[in-house]
Amino acid sequence: MVEDEERLARALQRGLTAEGFVVDIAGTGPGGLDAARHGQYDAVILDVMLPGLSGYRVIQALRADGNWVPVLMLSAKDGEYDQADGLDAGADDYLTKPFSYVVLLAKIRALLRRGAPERPAVLRVGALTLDPASRRVSRDGDPVNLTLREYALLEYLMRRPGAVVSKIELLDHVWDASVDTDPNIVEVYVGYLRRKLGRGAVETVRGAGYRLAVTEPA
Ligand code: CA
Repeated sequence: MVEDEERLARALQRGLTAEGFVVDIAGTGPGGLDAARHGQYDAVILDVMLPGLSGYRVIQALRADGNWVPVLMLSAKDGEYDQADGLDAGADDYLTKPFSYVVLLAKIRALLRRGAPERPAVLRVGALTLDPASRRVSRDGDPVNLTLREYALLEYLMRRPGAVVSKIELLDHVWDASVDTDPNIVEVYVGYLRRKLGRGAVETVRGAGYRLAVTEPA
């Protein structure tokens, strides 16, 4: 989230975190551009009026780089900035301030679904099903109760079935950048997932990381 109004940014971060998202905040245009260039974000919420570099410039620079991360622009109410400019600059959608949090959430979800074809509305891997909209997880049709962090970890793995994901990558994507977290926490949470989903659900690839089992272990 690139937003210089700190109270708004913090409030949105709190709300989105409660929904299971991991949110990093940048308070300036150059800071946001740098974060979007170097991080791997699923979506960017981008304010138009920012110190240093406007939201338009940020998105133009991203698109010029060939970075197609889904972007939701937040535009000012007074019409000084035309929403069409944001869309022309490469935004996927926009919201006019003040906006409803519920609408923001719906738009973010829509962007995540639409953003990349490899992101279906409901994820299925082996016996596991995960619905990002309702945050419901089931195994062989039986509901599984996960904490927010366990859910975020599983979702990240389910979006990369069969791929080996390193501990550091998981730490980057599932835990906030602002928290100085011990990489061993990843191991702890993989343990929680195994307890709830079955020992074979997440494989350890020695020296490389973890992999979600694509087929059920016998
Ligand atoms: Ca602003």
